[in-house]
Amino acid sequence: MVAEDSACCEEVRNMRTVAIVLAGGKGSRMKSEIKKQYLLVDGKPVLWYSLDAMERCGRVDEVVLVCGRGEQEQCRREFVERYGFQKIRGIVEGGKERYHSVYEGLKAAGDCTYVLIHDGARPFVDAAILDRILNALPDCQACVAGMPVKDTIKLGDPDGFVEQTLPRERLWTIQTPQAFSCSLIRGAYEALMRSEAEGTLQVRITDDAMVAEQFGNVRVKLIEGSYDNIKITTPEDLFLAEEIVRQRR
Ligand code: C5P
Repeated sequence: MVAEDSACCEEVRNMRTVAIVLAGGKGSRMKSEIKKQYLLVDGKPVLWYSLDAMERCGRVDEVVLVCGRGEQEQCRREFVERYGFQKIRGIVEGGKERYHSVYEGLKAAGDCTYVLIHDGARPFVDAAILDRILNALPDCQACVAGMPVKDTIKLGDPDGFVEQTLPRERLWTIQTPQAFSCSLIRGAYEALMRSEAEGTLQVRITDDAMVAEQFGNVRVKLIEGSYDNIKITTPEDLFLAEEIVRQRR
């Protein structure tokens, strides 16, 4: 029994979780000279909030920050030196599409048990969401944060007519973090990259769960996120973000 317990403790001690925080996008829908991840909300860059959540989460060991081309030094100065985030183990350049950036992050993550992938443009990930996701991980291997949709969702046809009304009670809007066993998501991303290189990739990849679904042969578990866990995309989202910070205070 004692031997079993200590083997189990040893296993927990050796577990390593790396968070990949993505900030390599251009954010063109924001129509701002400054990229959205660096715009200020309550005096701090949007990206600061996600990095702060990861820094405070005792179950995240290290962070890989993925930034845009030529932004590594600026990010190091801002987030490592100025704000003092200590979990950042690497700052790497992203790629053309979000999934290219994730792939760069995965390469930089080193040996780990679990990987958590989070959009730096979602500042309001909190400890409760991180806990729910990380609690589900050992059993599920692939988990994504999301929320049940509030609106009725219809599928449109190319001519702008309704093709189908989808069953609202089964629909979720998907957020990040998305968390995976490291070997599973690495294998799935390798397969995705091979498929892209061979020219056989037929869908537009918009999140990591899609990669796990298509290339990882695994069922992805839906985990409750939060309606506050918005992605900053357009200028209106910045007003909403200021309001969320004000309410949290
Ligand atoms: O473009 P979108 O809003 O879907 O981006 C989601 C997240 O992915 C953002 O945090 C963005 O910075 C990041 N991203 C990236 N590399 C890209 C495109 C997006 O890191 N090429």
